[in-house]
Amino acid sequence: MYSITLIPGDGIGPEIAEAMVKVVEATGVEIKWDIQNAGEEVYLKEGNPLPERVLDSIKRNKIAIKGPITTPVGTGFRSVNVTLRQTLDLYACVRPCKSFKGAKTKYENVDLVIVRENTEDLYAGVEFKKGQQETLDLINFITSKSGKKIREDSGISIKPISVFGTERIVRFAFEYARKNGRKKVTAVHKANIMKYTDGLFLEVARQVANQYPDIEFEDKIVDNMCMQLVQKPELYDVLVLPNLYGDIISDLAAGLIGGLGLAPGANIGDEYAVFEPTHGSAPKYKGLNKVNPFAIILSAVMMLRYLGEFNAAGKIENAVAKVIEEGKYVTYDLKSQDDPTPPVGTQDVAEELVRIIQR
Ligand code: NAD
Repeated sequence: MYSITLIPGDGIGPEIAEAMVKVVEATGVEIKWDIQNAGEEVYLKEGNPLPERVLDSIKRNKIAIKGPITTPVGTGFRSVNVTLRQTLDLYACVRPCKSFKGAKTKYENVDLVIVRENTEDLYAGVEFKKGQQETLDLINFITSKSGKKIREDSGISIKPISVFGTERIVRFAFEYARKNGRKKVTAVHKANIMKYTDGLFLEVARQVANQYPDIEFEDKIVDNMCMQLVQKPELYDVLVLPNLYGDIISDLAAGLIGGLGLAPGANIGDEYAVFEPTHGSAPKYKGLNKVNPFAIILSAVMMLRYLGEFNAAGKIENAVAKVIEEGKYVTYDLKSQDDPTPPVGTQDVAEELVRIIQR
């Protein structure tokens, strides 16, 4: 019996988490779900959107799966998701984007794995608010050291990228490629403009790549990468990126395979792993039993493989592929306009998967 932390999240989180639990339990793998709430409601009740009890639970169980959690825009508490990744040092965000036969998309044969650095870059949370004394001090310091002028009414976000952080994420990408029979790793950056951050990322990536002669290595500038992925995604395999580009390219890649409803993810560190879909809490769909649960279900597939439960993972993945190919028991986002049959709800999808798995 495994003990796993389950953070349902908010918005559409609880309903997709419920669907995921049904499907995982249908495989017969025994799991004790240690349910821990986090997010805005918890913040209002407990004064902290990510209380210690949630972190303690993950530290005890080593593994968690979570639904999305809303982050207030511009003001309010910092992202629970980012804090979780930083506090538990979940430095590698792995997001596979693979075409499913029958999914509504312009592309076929997409099989990408995005490996996003999860702890540094503009997500480090080192920010200085417009007009505050420390911000003005920083602006003066920068001007005195670099001669560059920054307007006094600026806010500033700091972008740290280290040798340590880059080395371990690029190594993670190559090790992932080796273990999963992948052929190529592409490092994505903007080293032509940000020479001391992205330039360092590229330099370290090249050094690590030299230690993996069996895997092809190349690099691409991020803007070009966007165009290449839209034009010929089949040329790419594993992509390794700093945090912000990784975030953006993950959604782009999800779009190539039919949308966020199909894109799973994992945040992995040396000690802990937290599995979660790429998509957010889609608040406008909250409680409507409408959204697609596949992304969190496929995140559970990644989790089962991480646990060594390959048989159960395969059963769920095959059931998901079958349901998408048949196109009958799917939610609105996977229906094409000329399909005369109506979409089904979140829990109907889960129940159909359970029927297939138990057949
Ligand atoms: P979002 O991913 O929640 O939704 C964008 C759109 O994608 C939705 O309106 C919907 O049309 C579609 N979509 C998303 N998930 C879907 C699903 N399962 N099935 C069908 N369609 C789906 O992005 P957003 O609106 O930018 O963010 C909403 C909130 O989620 C924000 O507060 C954001 O900070 C948060 N967020 C959390 C996480 C996380 O918990 N890891 C990740 C991303 C965003």
